[in-house]
Amino acid sequence: MTFPVVGIIGGGQLARMAHQAAIPLGIRTRLLADTPQDSASLVVNDVVLGDYRDLDTLRRFAAGCEVVTFDHEHVPLDHLRTLQAEGVAVRPDPDALMYAQDKGLMRARLDALGVPCPRHRLVADPADVAAFAAEGPEGWPVVLKTTRGGYDGKGVWVVRNEAEAAEPFRAGVPVLAEEKVDFVRELAADVVRSPHGQAVAYPVVESLQKNGICHEVTAPAPDLGADLAAEAQALALRIAGELDITGHLAVELFETRDGRILVNELAMRPHNSGHWSIDGAVTSQFENHLRAVLDLPLGDPRPRARWTVMVNVLGGDYPDMYHAYLHCMARDPGLRVHMYGKDVKPGRKVGHVTVFGDDLDDVRERARHAAAYLRGDITE
Ligand code: ADP
Repeated sequence: MTFPVVGIIGGGQLARMAHQAAIPLGIRTRLLADTPQDSASLVVNDVVLGDYRDLDTLRRFAAGCEVVTFDHEHVPLDHLRTLQAEGVAVRPDPDALMYAQDKGLMRARLDALGVPCPRHRLVADPADVAAFAAEGPEGWPVVLKTTRGGYDGKGVWVVRNEAEAAEPFRAGVPVLAEEKVDFVRELAADVVRSPHGQAVAYPVVESLQKNGICHEVTAPAPDLGADLAAEAQALALRIAGELDITGHLAVELFETRDGRILVNELAMRPHNSGHWSIDGAVTSQFENHLRAVLDLPLGDPRPRARWTVMVNVLGGDYPDMYHAYLHCMARDPGLRVHMYGKDVKPGRKVGHVTVFGDDLDDVRERARHAAAYLRGDITE
């Protein structure tokens, strides 16, 4: 058999890093991207430009691919089912992907599995949100989420009263209300599962979010009890199995003050919480995602160092990040830099840096310093 072509729908940085993982394996990637300037279009030579919502474009793209997988979760399920009926392998399966596309369906399925979640229900209008607040001990504020189409905190509102609850309903998409969890921190349990059922679990990580965007990930999550870590990994593996997910699954979690974990959401693709694994684990999330969708044996997910810290580089006011390399590289030869080839716009994820080692404070300081310097927040 010749080396397979893995089709990736979406041209963002996740596709770019998946391509990077494919190179040493000799696996070829084909991209369905919006523009030649997309992060992954800049590095993949087999690019189909077109609209992932158009069935004929998807057909043209999928022809000759061993398997089709994703950089984002927004492809219409009906189109994916049609491709499957025409013989295309789609991983994860649309029957699993639907739970990542729709937060209402996801909550209902997790409830049915008995998975602990924040108190929640679908709400019809601002008065219904007020009723929801009155139904539980937490009251206001309430978290409102559009069930579809959100990412990086877009589509999430924290509202303090009925008047503030009007905005989320304007899009005309069903709205999910959730108690605002008073969490100690956010965690992620990342696992990878292949079609024949092999699965691996990465160490549970701590993720620090600001304004709904992931800023920093520490692997493994510091001071997480062995029992809670094992419980989170077992929960993620169980969800992957029950939903028959293939490829990478990120289970975003809240750790509560009384030592429980609640599921925030599921992502069925490589995820920001796993970027540390490129430098910090024996096998990265991207390589294991590729192995899984091809039904190859999975690689060792264990960390290479005691601590790994990943900090996202967000666009600041200073567009010339290359200029900052001189300082960052001279200061820290152990620094790992990953840039996505994207234009610098304020707040946009344009890259990440990773540092690993034995001393958590040192590793964290170095990663934070480099990210802040690249962004232009500090000058020495
Ligand atoms: P997205 O799909 O845009 O990533 P999430 O559902 O993950 O949205 O929410 C983004 C962030 O908002 C979370 O990482 C968390 O910080 C906060 N958040 C979401 N739901 C809740 C909740 N029920 N209670 C408290 N904070 C929440």
